[in-house]
Amino acid sequence: MSTSVFQARLAVALFAASATTLLTAQGTQDAAPVGQPARCGTPNTFQGGSFLDNPDCDFYQTNPSQTYAPTSVQRIPVVVHVIQNSSGTGNLGNALVQSQITVLNEDFRAMSGTAGANGVDSQIEFFLATTDPNGQPTTGIVHYTNNTWFTDAGGYYNSIAWNPQRYLNIYTNNAGGGGVLGYVPAIPQSGNIAGTAADRVVILYSAFGRPGLGGSPYNLGRTCTHEVGHYLGLFHTFDSGCGSSSACYTSGDRICDTNPESQPRYGCPTTATSCGSLDPVRNYMDYTNDSCMTGFSAEQVRRMRCTLVSYRPNLAQPAGPIASATSRSGAGNLNSAFFATAPRLGMQASMNVVTFNTPYSLAMVLGYTGAASQPFNGYTVLIDTLSAPVLQMPLMASATVVSWTYAVPNDPALGGLQIKSQGLMLGQTFALTNAMDLVLGN
Ligand SMILES: [Zn+2]
Repeated sequence: MSTSVFQARLAVALFAASATTLLTAQGTQDAAPVGQPARCGTPNTFQGGSFLDNPDCDFYQTNPSQTYAPTSVQRIPVVVHVIQNSSGTGNLGNALVQSQITVLNEDFRAMSGTAGANGVDSQIEFFLATTDPNGQPTTGIVHYTNNTWFTDAGGYYNSIAWNPQRYLNIYTNNAGGGGVLGYVPAIPQSGNIAGTAADRVVILYSAFGRPGLGGSPYNLGRTCTHEVGHYLGLFHTFDSGCGSSSACYTSGDRICDTNPESQPRYGCPTTATSCGSLDPVRNYMDYTNDSCMTGFSAEQVRRMRCTLVSYRPNLAQPAGPIASATSRSGAGNLNSAFFATAPRLGMQASMNVVTFNTPYSLAMVLGYTGAASQPFNGYTVLIDTLSAPVLQMPLMASATVVSWTYAVPNDPALGGLQIKSQGLMLGQTFALTNAMDLVLGN
């Protein structure tokens, strides 16, 4: 979409009831974890090849070019789907969910003073989504009670995934019940999974967050750090065994600055060797205890940054303006009749008017750059979604909230744009509602 929808002349945002946009889930990946009996169920043997292959970070090789050095912060919106059974097993509190996001940021940002401080800063950050796929405010945490889904069966993601191209979907359940702490069905370089409904990270509920409910040694949130590493294209440090020391970008884990390793390591065997050098037991992509792990390597970071660009181009957002919708009192005589969601670039947002218990039967929303007080003179268009702008004032039923949903262009140039808006209600006379100050943000 172009910026023309924000043209600077009078217009009226049509206020009409609109159908909620439903996410159409797609994808056919099997929910069953494959392979490992413990720590991680991500398959070690992938079916290589993807329609989005970038030879700098595809299934077969890595080129840790300077192009992928972390020079800007990229922020990934996360939705955590907490699945419990009817007995309540698997229920996780919001604070525990937030603690996992905190661990991800400590580890991926190698934040000083944390257990991840010794790693390399990827400048990749994570945040619980603040806007859902329909543009509505959200905590980024959704709870479900379903005995089948709790066992990681039933293809739950086909029903509940949020657009996997735009959100990192994390699910907590019993991860299949086979002792696996977590998995991704495949790295994005494999199986054309990126962006499908099956594209996800699954974490055993008792190994999620800090402190995880299952206790030591997997209770510091590193299972999720490890699985998100896969989600961003990393292999295990031991995948393909020792590989070739002279071709470490095309064998082993396709990374040269992690020592080669013939097998996964458990516990924290810091003097273990297997391929003529110390095993990388402190790397997040091994199988060691949570407390043993301390970081990603520089080349792993570059492979993840390359993966973001090449396989998940619509996922991360640059750090930028924070979307906001602030009600301004005193701007109209119908306080709180009008409310709006915070408009985020590339997402749906909505404006809503309450008509219940008012003498008004018609409503619209005006947007402009000036202060809200005189809505018919000298304003700036807020949203013009019609090819031929027409003032429409649909008759609205009483006893309802009427919602108008609009698409915000995914144009970084619009970031930070401030818009003032106000509802207008019409009946035998007209009245202004309260005003909303909106900021387009990430
Ligand atoms: Zn793994």
